[in-house]
Amino acid sequence: MKTFSSRLSRRTFLKQNSLAGLGVALASSSVAALPVMGSKSAQLPAILGGPSAWAEDKWPVWPQWNPATDEKQLLEVVRSGVWSRANVVTQFEKEWAAALNVKRSLAVVNGTNALVIAINQLGIGAGDEVLVPPYTFIASVSSILSNGAMPVFVDIDAETFQIDPAKIEAKITPRTKAIMAVHVLGLPVDMDRIMAIAQKHKLLVIEDACQAHLAEYDKKKVGTIGNVGCFSFQNSKNLPIGEGGAIVSNDEHFMDLCYSYHNFGNPYGTAVGSVSTGSVMQGTKLRFSEYQAAIGIAQLKRLDAQTTTRNENAAYLKSLIKDIPGIVPYKLYDKVNRGAFHLFAFRYQKDGFKGLSRERFINAVKAEGVPCMSGYSTLNTQPFLGETFKSENYRRMYPKEMLDINQYNEQNKCPVNDKICNEEAVWFTQNMLLGTKDDMKAIASAIEKVHHNVDKIKTLGQK
Ligand SMILES: *Cc1c(COP(=O)(O)O)cnc(C)c1O
Repeated sequence: MKTFSSRLSRRTFLKQNSLAGLGVALASSSVAALPVMGSKSAQLPAILGGPSAWAEDKWPVWPQWNPATDEKQLLEVVRSGVWSRANVVTQFEKEWAAALNVKRSLAVVNGTNALVIAINQLGIGAGDEVLVPPYTFIASVSSILSNGAMPVFVDIDAETFQIDPAKIEAKITPRTKAIMAVHVLGLPVDMDRIMAIAQKHKLLVIEDACQAHLAEYDKKKVGTIGNVGCFSFQNSKNLPIGEGGAIVSNDEHFMDLCYSYHNFGNPYGTAVGSVSTGSVMQGTKLRFSEYQAAIGIAQLKRLDAQTTTRNENAAYLKSLIKDIPGIVPYKLYDKVNRGAFHLFAFRYQKDGFKGLSRERFINAVKAEGVPCMSGYSTLNTQPFLGETFKSENYRRMYPKEMLDINQYNEQNKCPVNDKICNEEAVWFTQNMLLGTKDDMKAIASAIEKVHHNVDKIKTLGQK
């Protein structure tokens, strides 16, 4: 390990060991680069050749990894030769369940398949409809289609970016089986209203908490409020393992079924490698591995503190930018105790920037050394839906009129989401929220600088 480290420059070393290096390296370097609000915004914007508000490579790297604290158990696993699911996966599942205060957790290959398994074992399939917001990662929807069910889109609330509870009931039909509550951006959905609607109409609630590790609503961790919660441990997520996912629930019988399904349909508790028990149900193989679990256990140790930092920095950044005309940050529902802030999102309203397009705003902020992006495109209009409906499989499962993509598109319009995706949303990624207060000031000052200089920026070509 020493030889690996010593080959790297000091800066790269600090970046790669960002847990150890983060506080010290970034805190000290950020003092020198500290933008002074006001005076800096008078400078020429970087997109016009002025100095950047920030150096892009200063942002906390992701994922974080500290050889000194993170590698002991991982090396033990690697050297043991026990790599398929065994004690370390079980340990990780217990720790994840404890972190969420939920009875059971099952680690699986990824968040997508956590959702696929959950939907499958809730008995949702051909002919069933699942209500889902369009403002999410594609896996929320593909997990419904993988089970032969039909996604029905419910528009979002522009202020929170979440599924709008007020628009759910109009979408319920006799075929509706479940609501997928996606805590997108790592911000909790309005779960009281979702649960009340679900109870009234006897619907299941699947929480897609793939972006919402340790987020809390009404003192409960998200993912533990509905019938089942699903998490992702993909590299960009707040608990990164490269790939990985988990299903959590307080329903032990349901969790036994999920376990069986993810392990060839063998009875719950069957040891990996056993071929003698026989399968009690149809299953597949979606198991987590021991070295993934060892990485997860190491990452879990820092998740709570990181989540606190993200919450503090998000609130601070929000306070710094909320009064800039044209910047409307995310809103949280009243009962939210804690966000996960997988992303920090705000609406960019170009009227506040003399009509400067979002694309040009983003480019100008990026030029200041502050990475940002426009986020999701509209999921409910993408070609995969029509392609799925054309498949032999779907044509066998559904009457023709349900597979008419024009009619489907007509029934699944989400104008609020269209506006958010096509015109307004701007994201900062979660790792930026692990920086210092000065880092948050740098973000705010970059936006202020663009705002202050919008006339000059607009002269840069026409758009
Ligand atoms: C990442 C993500 C998933 C899928 O998780 P993977 O581990 O990447 O398969 C599902 N839903 C949402 C909202 C996600 O962000």
